[in-house]
Amino acid sequence: EVIDIAALTRRVMQRIHAFAEQRDITLEEQLTNNIHIIGDSNLLEQAILALLDNAVKYNKPNGKICVSTSIQHEAVHLKVHDTGIGVSTEHLPHLGERFYRVDKARSRQAGGTGLGLSIARSITVEHGGQLTLVSIPGQGTTATLVLPMARETPLAHKEALPTRTASRN
Ligand code: ATP
Repeated sequence: EVIDIAALTRRVMQRIHAFAEQRDITLEEQLTNNIHIIGDSNLLEQAILALLDNAVKYNKPNGKICVSTSIQHEAVHLKVHDTGIGVSTEHLPHLGERFYRVDKARSRQAGGTGLGLSIARSITVEHGGQLTLVSIPGQGTTATLVLPMARETPLAHKEALPTRTASRN
């Protein structure tokens, strides 16, 4: 199925909106319309929701979350940036592992199983993409979901090309 990544991301942002408001977290977006990917929208929604859920849970009061898209090398980069507590470099490489949680006590308070990121990563990899996390302890975290873009125009466009070339010669 062809998915508009901005539309899909906005749907997920609506789902997290009340939770963010309850914690005094501001949600911002810099999403570009008409970037398409091919995949399963339910699964991708679940992956993005896991990132946004963490960005709220591990944020600070009056914190911010910025969700943005950009294009690099025929892939869309969906970034979820938060101004939260961050993750130290010793924990960071383990975050995609199933059931891995940084601070058991704190995390239990925040609620969770330690599965969200590993599921998000599996879904991303199934879609031919990758999920990376960059973090500065005490300042915030950026999760980046990289997904291959759908080819802009299907067959019709490609078939038109040789004709144009021929007529120019
Ligand atoms: P659940 O998946 O049930 O929501 P969880 O949030 O603990 O539980 P993951 O989403 O897999 O599980 O995250 C694993 C751990 O990574 C978390 O316990 C948390 O310590 C850390 N973490 C994840 N995202 C962030 C973030 N944006 N900022 C700070 N720490 C994070």
